[in-house]
Parts: sequence; C-alpha cells; structure tokens
Amino acid sequence: MENKDNIGAGNQPNQPNQPNQPNGPNLSNQRPNGKRRFNFMWIYAILFAVLIGLQFFGRDSATPQEEIDQGKFIELLKQEEVGKIELVNREDAEIYLNKKGLSVYFPDVSANADGFTVSPNYTYKIGSLDRFEEMVENAQEGIANPVYISNVRRNNWMGSILEWVIPLALLAVFYIILMRSMGRSMGGGAGSIFNIGKSRAQLYDKNTNVNVTFKDVAGLEEAKVEIMEVVDFLKNPEKYTKLGGKIPKGVLLVGPPGTGKTLLAKSVAGEANVPFFSLSGSDFVEMFVGVGASRVRDLFNNAKSKAPCIIFIDEIDAIGRARGKSAITGGNDERESTLNQLLTEMDGFGTNSGVIVLAATNRADILDKALLRAGRFDRQIYVELPDIVGRKEIFEVHMRGLKLAADVDKEFLAKQTPGFSGADIANVCNEAALMAARKGKEEIDKQDFLDAVDRIIGGLEKKNKIISADEKKVIAFHEAGHATTSWLLQYAHPLVKVTIVPRGNSLGAAWYLPEERQITTKEQMYHEIIATLGGRAAEQVVFGQISTGALSDLEKVTKQAFAMVTYYGLDDEIGNLSFYDSTGQQDYSFQKPYSEKTAETIDKQVSKLVEKAYQEAIDILTEHRDGLTQLATKLIEEEVIFGEDLERIFGKRPWGNSEDEKLKNAALKEAEEATESQLDNQTENA
Ligand code: ADP
Repeated sequence: MENKDNIGAGNQPNQPNQPNQPNGPNLSNQRPNGKRRFNFMWIYAILFAVLIGLQFFGRDSATPQEEIDQGKFIELLKQEEVGKIELVNREDAEIYLNKKGLSVYFPDVSANADGFTVSPNYTYKIGSLDRFEEMVENAQEGIANPVYISNVRRNNWMGSILEWVIPLALLAVFYIILMRSMGRSMGGGAGSIFNIGKSRAQLYDKNTNVNVTFKDVAGLEEAKVEIMEVVDFLKNPEKYTKLGGKIPKGVLLVGPPGTGKTLLAKSVAGEANVPFFSLSGSDFVEMFVGVGASRVRDLFNNAKSKAPCIIFIDEIDAIGRARGKSAITGGNDERESTLNQLLTEMDGFGTNSGVIVLAATNRADILDKALLRAGRFDRQIYVELPDIVGRKEIFEVHMRGLKLAADVDKEFLAKQTPGFSGADIANVCNEAALMAARKGKEEIDKQDFLDAVDRIIGGLEKKNKIISADEKKVIAFHEAGHATTSWLLQYAHPLVKVTIVPRGNSLGAAWYLPEERQITTKEQMYHEIIATLGGRAAEQVVFGQISTGALSDLEKVTKQAFAMVTYYGLDDEIGNLSFYDSTGQQDYSFQKPYSEKTAETIDKQVSKLVEKAYQEAIDILTEHRDGLTQLATKLIEEEVIFGEDLERIFGKRPWGNSEDEKLKNAALKEAEEATESQLDNQTENA
C-alpha cells in the first residue's frame, strides 16, 4: 500500500530531473552579489537624499519660525509690533515684525530695505478664517495704523512632489521586486513568469525510481497485453517497421474513475525503462491565453529530445472535449487552441520518432472526434470495473503488505464488493488496517474488512443518531420491502445484505449482487424499478401512508424510467427512438431534439411505467405480507440481515443462478492459476 501511494504522488516540486529545468548551475546564485543590486541601492539612496535635501534646503533656515499662540499674537498686535500678516493658502498666518518688534524680539536680526526680514518671524495656525479676521480687527481697535491681512497663494510644491513621487516610487519598487523574482527564477521553477509556457510534465526516467510494475496491477489482463505491446513498440521498433507496419502514436485508456488507468500507465514506465512524462490535462490550462498551446509544444519538444519515450496525459477530457458549437461561452477558445495544438503535434511527429502518447479519461464519449481518429489515438483500451475475479486479484495485490488473520477470505470479500473499483478496494484494505489498529488488534480480521466495506459504501456509522422506535419500524419495513421484492422478482439483483444502521446521511441500506452482465433487457430494467419502489410500497401496504424516506429511490427510478423511454427505445409508444447524444454536445443546447407532442408522450409514458411498477410492487408485498413482516421484525432485532435470512423465509429463489454460480467459481479457480503463470511470463517478456 505504502509504496503505491508514493508512486501515486503527482508533481513533486523537488524532483531532480524536472524537464523544464536546464541542467547547469543556477543562474540566480551565480550572479555576483553586486552590480545590479548595487545600482538599485544607489537609486534608493539618491531619491532619499533628494527628499531629505528638499526638506532642509527648500526653506530659509536663517530665521527660526516659532509658532505662536493666540495670546501672544494679540499682544503683538496690541503693542503695534507687527508689520505684515500674510495669510498663506488661507491656512497659516505668517507674521512679520516691524522695526519695533524686531528690536524687541530679534535685536540681532537686521531688516531689509522694506523694513521686514526675508522670512516671517512667527507663524500662527488659524482655525476659522472669519474668526481670525475678527480677532485681528478687534486686537487693533483704536490703533491708528492697523495692519491688514494680505492673502498669499503659495504652491505647496513639496507636498505636490511627494504626492507624485511616493506612488511612483512604490511602483518602481514593485517593478523591481517583480523583475528580481523573474530574474531569480530564470534558472527554473515552474511558477515563474518566464516558464509559464513550459510544460508541467513530471519526468520519470532511469534516475527517478518508479517502482510500479505490472505485478502491482491486478486484473486488466487484456489492457496489460495491449499496453505491453506499446512497450515493445518502443523497445524494438524495427520488429514492426521491418514489415512495413506503422507504430501507433497514441493509446487512450478509457474507463470509470479508480479502475487503475493511471496505475497502468505508471507501470508501463516501470516496465519499459524509457523516460515517461506524466501530466494531467488540466496542467495545460492556465488563466493566460495561449499558454496551453505553448505548453503542448514544449512538452512534445522535450519528449522528442528524449525519444524513445512515453507521454502520459491523465484526464485528457480537460482539454480534449469536443470542440463545440457552444458559442455562448467564449472561455472555450483557450481550450480549443490547446487541443488544436495537441492535434497538430500528434500529426507532426513521425510514427517512428519513438514518442507514444498515452492518455486516460473516463469520458471518451465527450472527446473530440478528431482526437480519436486513426493516426492520433488509434487505440483505445477499455479499463472496466473489475469483475469478481478481478476484485479478488486486486485484494491480493493490496493485501500483500498487510498482517492478516487466518479468517480473511479474499474470495468472500470479492463477492461482498460488487461494483467496487480498484481504488475502492485499495481503500477497503487500508480502512480495514486502520480499524484493526484502532481496536488495538495484532492482525486484521474478516470483521475489520466487512466493517470497512460497510463504511465505504455507506459512510461512517452514526451510532448516536436518534431514531425513534416508530421511525425504526418504518425504516425496517422500507428496507424489508426492497429485499422482499428483489428476492421474489426473477430479474432483480439478488440481495446481499440489508441494514438499518444509519450511516452517512442514509438511514438504512440494502445492497445487491449485481449480475455482471453486458446488456440489460427491458424486463430486467422493469424488475429493478419494481424492486427500487419496493421500499415505498412496503410503507404503503403496512402503514397505509408513505414518507419522505424514498427520495433517493424515486430519483433513481425516475432516471431509469426516463432512460428506458428516451434513450434505450424500450417504450412501445415512443418506439425505437433514442434521444441520447453520445457526443455530449446536447448538454450545451437548449433545444430538445423532439417536438412538444413527443415530450408530452414521454412524460406520460414515464409516469405510466413507474405507476405500473409501483402497483406491481404493492401486489407482491400484499401477497407476501407475512414474509415481509417476519423480515422486518428480524431486521429490527438484529439491524443487519443477509441473503441467507431471506432464503429461510421465502425459500430458495427458483431462478437461482446455480449454473452461473458454478461458472463463476470455475472462472475464479482458473484465473487464480492463470494469473500467476501469466504474470511470470509477462515479467519475463518485459
Ligand atoms: P484512475 O483509473 O482513476 O486513473 P488510478 O489508477 O489512479 O485510477 O487508481 C487509483 C488507485 O486504485 C491506485 O493507486 C491503486 O491503488 C488502486 N487500483 C486501481 N485499480 C487497480 C488494479 N487493477 N490493481 C491494483 N490496484 C488498483
């Protein structure tokens, strides 16, 4: 488990071999600690000096300008010692003493020809202009030659300069910091502005330890064979080109999330021993226009210089989504140009250039057709959810490092985990280990695994969720309703387990063993709908009233019924029409591909279908009310019941899959033997 997680780690910033990091000494460290920086320091110093200088030399420092208060000012006026009052900018009064005043207060200062000093002798801060004028007038009452106030407008150029200089200086500082950080990262670091157009691919090569091999990928036999071939193309291209064959340029891995696509690609890197560029589709996208395309170019340039090699693009749908007609959202342009660039690059390199592009997606249906055409991603490998055999093998892989108790049975666990992906199973194993550790156990036993499965399906048990006895009864009958209907319907999935222990945000759950089938008949879908409605029907039959507890059931049923009518052409009235759009373009359009009248028919048919199914569920449960009650009672007592309990109450299912069962068991056995020898072969081949 652990080593897998390490490999799974995405971009590690400090990888020794980042492709976009030029080898060689780091430029920023190399720059002598000097010239440039020194220059800037000088600029700061000069600016500072100028400011300080202005502060000092801008004024006449010959006479000190003492600020006086009102009392002193009035006194000066009264004693006729003031020669001139200048009101500067209506804010400050500058007071010049006359000869008399000068002789009293500044006996050593000599006046100019006009009788005043060059600069004012005192300043006075005025409050309100009116009151100041009034005060000057009052103070000089009765004086023969009063002094009048003269108004002076003076530009406060210091202030104005500062107003300009400070923002400019700030801008300059900002600019300098930006330039510096750019300069510093010239040598590397994906985050810098010079590297924005560089690809963010993570390079795995012989210096990087990729210790995932095919042994770590369980199941997926066909996928492995195909991928193996890719490895072989890279290693022995002549073998194929000798005969005139062309080596595929791209391989697309398609499948639901968590089925091991990334793992498979990583294992190729481990097996092939060629450099392996790994990145995700979203790595191309940035908020700057044109960056994506430039990253694609850069990636392919890097790859070509390291050929033979593999480029792996995870989640390619991030850029490869069909270029649409969706003119509404202009934001697609960037993605489209990225995709165009990718298409161009894939066309641009020869089949023998030794670069193979692997890509993974879980939505191949929405990918652009141009991307899928031959000559680009010529091959598509489907990576499906594992079947019972696959699950067992995945359990084996992930149990390798665990301390297991003797009672852990992989086959049983594989049976208990229908629909689980590889990632889910990896999670079950880890969760089981954690649970065992929490309980202080020495070994992980079967119960830990079962608890882990429950937890992953339903979320954490909510032991202290308060549920009244009445509610519990409703829940029990609801779940028993699902169990009963599904048990008694030929095509519904047989039940594995029902519980009324609240988990996550559900109050109870029933899970089934889905038949692993590739196509579903109308009858099968219909029976599933009946079983899903069985919960609500049981409430109706037993209590005569229905509750809100069936929300998710109804949601599921509605979707399924809609799909039957509009997608699969399973409705008589609508006929063999399907309004499904595999290109995904319809998602963007506001128009429905059918008329209003058809829309009405669809609504009518869907509702008819669901109502009919509901009625059928009610009929079944009314008929088997005894069994239903027994089951619900047991459920209330024990909280969990299994398929065996149902068998005891209702008897064996007449359509038991005994033949299937036998086949399955045989397959399990066979696979077990085959895997070991196959794995050995494969590793030898590699
Ligand atoms: P995706 O298909 O979404 O790329 P990943 O390859 O990332 O899925 O799988 C996630 C994890 O699930 C893996 O790291 C691995 O632990 C586990 N896993 C998935 N499929 C398998 C498998 N076939 N065998 C072993 N482990 C698997």
